[in-house]
Amino acid sequence: MSIFSLAIHGGAGTILKSKMTPEKEAQYIQALQEALKQGHQILSQGGTSLDAVEASVCSLENCHLFNAGKGSVFNAKGEHEMDASIMEGSTKNAGAIATIKGIKNPIRLARKVMEESEHVFLVGDGAIEFAKMQELEFISPNYFYDEFRFQQWQKVKDSDQFMLDHSIEKKDEKFGTVGAVALDIHGNVAAATSTGGMTNKKFGRIGDSSIIGAGTYANNKTCAVSCTGSGEFFIRNVVAYDVSCLMEFKGLSLQDACDEVIHHRLLEINGDGGLIAVDNQGNIALPFNTEGMYRASVSNSQKEQILIYK
Ligand code: ASP
Repeated sequence: MSIFSLAIHGGAGTILKSKMTPEKEAQYIQALQEALKQGHQILSQGGTSLDAVEASVCSLENCHLFNAGKGSVFNAKGEHEMDASIMEGSTKNAGAIATIKGIKNPIRLARKVMEESEHVFLVGDGAIEFAKMQELEFISPNYFYDEFRFQQWQKVKDSDQFMLDHSIEKKDEKFGTVGAVALDIHGNVAAATSTGGMTNKKFGRIGDSSIIGAGTYANNKTCAVSCTGSGEFFIRNVVAYDVSCLMEFKGLSLQDACDEVIHHRLLEINGDGGLIAVDNQGNIALPFNTEGMYRASVSNSQKEQILIYK
């Protein structure tokens, strides 16, 4: 039987059951279920891991609950500035975009950069110009408006404070970045990550989500990884690549490599967050060092699993 695996995330952080209403929890579960279904359908019909991760991330980008696409947080100017990246493990091709505005599905643009340009990483106005050439879907700023996120921003607007998604009382209460990783029946892995970054971010701040090796990485020799958490720490520790390196050069299993990176190396520099990963055998790891992480997974041998808390 052909092996395939898929895992998705909708962000990690201080996600406590005591703070969640049953209605909200049901909404999150439904959104994760839908995103998982999108990728699962593709993989179970023999489609590619690249198509699967793109489809799952698009579904999460279209949902207001997560800090990516439609649900992106407000930056210091009251705009929605998004970062995304995608990578496939057979060729190690990759595409990334950062600080882009008005694009409905940033992950689609990242894929276009990978497949239709000679570059890996485009930012700002240049990326928008490229998106127009590729006939990507643009959408009005109203599409991204969300009352909850607007109120979040009001609390820190006009200050030097910036914060991660849903951080009302505490600076780092929750991150809402989305991502997907997959292994397809052809033996290829792929990873995709998309985010609105941090509320009230300024100076063109870019997190790990669009940085290949930090927030996203895929290599058929080892695994595919998508991260969520305080981006600065993930960049400094080159987290996604580090997982792959521990497997490739130290012979660690996927789970051991992930645990080393998330529960030891990241904590050594006080970094918080989590990641999702699949290896080239279809194993799945979903480690995080926060209270919770919106996550879901499925494979040819494991039925759909959707989890939120520790
Ligand atoms: N890693 C993202 C960033 O720093 C935030 C998140 O995971 O929600 O932009």
